[in-house]
Formats: sequence, structure tokens, C-alpha cells
Amino acid sequence: MGNDLDHVLFTEDQIHARLEELAAEIWADYEGKDVLLVGVLKGAILVMADLMRALPGSAPMDWMAVSSYGSGTKSSGVVRILKDLDTDISGRHVLIVEDIIDSGLTLNWICSNLRSREPASLEICTLLRKPDAAKVDIDCRYVGFDIPNEFVVGYGLDYDERYRNLRDIGTLAPHVYL
Ligand code: 5GP
Ligand code: MG
Ligand code: MG
Repeated sequence: MGNDLDHVLFTEDQIHARLEELAAEIWADYEGKDVLLVGVLKGAILVMADLMRALPGSAPMDWMAVSSYGSGTKSSGVVRILKDLDTDISGRHVLIVEDIIDSGLTLNWICSNLRSREPASLEICTLLRKPDAAKVDIDCRYVGFDIPNEFVVGYGLDYDERYRNLRDIGTLAPHVYL
């Protein structure tokens, strides 16, 4: 498995340090408001776990699962809800917690879907953002790191459901998926 990775982009320590910064920012911005963290399964599980523990106080969370990628590495643009929220978000301050924005197609779709439920506010926090995300009109308030256009795995991010367990984030050697 060591040979399957090309190089490490961010170590676990770097990720945690950045999430601490984002958490402080988020907590200050939502002061006096009850923010609901909405994670997008499954990639965001570790971002959610570490971000919510980095928050100075407690915030409720909910999850939704959508499918857009299948087992490949390119976005299909076809989004399907596999698991919807348990929470009625109307009138709530919703912060979407994401692992990565690539084409932005998935998040664009999720945002318009959630907006139709009339939350009090809707913002996005993503750990990683790729250059193509700039092509769609997504206002992402909290971004951990902007990264080059490479396929990355680890820290919740998978290739064909594997490698989510890696503590660091790195690029997958091309031989794994070509
Ligand atoms: P988008 O619709 O923005 O192109 O892609 C959204 C989803 O595709 C992400 O939430 C993630 O699940 C997956 N994805 C996009 N880029 C990568 C990547 O570099 N690595 C991994 N493992 N998944 C990615
Ligand atoms: Mg995701
Ligand atoms: Mg995936």
C-alpha cells in the first residue's frame, strides 16, 4: 500500500492545525447563533470529527449522502440522494461540511436542494478545493487548502472505497487507477 501513494500533500498535523483555525473563525462568525453542521457522507467523516471537536463549544450535526462519482475519478454530474437529513433545516443556520470540491457539481446541487428548504443561512466549509471549483458559482466561506488538480486520497477521501483510513492526504500513484 505504501507504493500506491505518490507523495503526501498534507500531514495529519497540518490538517488539524488548519481545522483549529477554521473552527475558531466559524465559532466567532456564528456567535449567538445555533449552527447546524451538515456533513456529506462519506468523505467528510473525518473533517467533521476533527472540526467539531476543534470548535470551542458544542454544535449539533446531521448527515446526508449523495452519489456523484461512482468508483471512478471523474464527476458524472448526476447527483442522487442516498440518505437525506434527519433534521428539518427550515429557519436553521446550516453549515455544510465537505471534504473536497472539485467540479463543484455535487455541492452546487446540494446547495440548491437545501436552499429550497429555506434555512436561515447556508454556508460551506470544505477542507480541500481544486481549481475547477472556480468555474461554478459556489461561494465557499471556509476553505482549508486550495490544491492542484490532482486526485488525492486519505483522511476520509477514497479511491474505490479504500484509503479513507490514511491519516495524511496524498496523491495516488497513477498506476493504481489507470
Ligand atoms: P465534484 O462534484 O465537486 O466534482 O466532486 C465532489 C466529490 O467528488 C467529493 O465530495 C469527493 O467525494 C469526490 N472527489 C473529488 N475530487 C476528489 C479527489 O481528488 N479525491 C477523492 N478521493 N475524491 C474526490
Ligand atoms: Mg464530499
Ligand atoms: Mg469518493
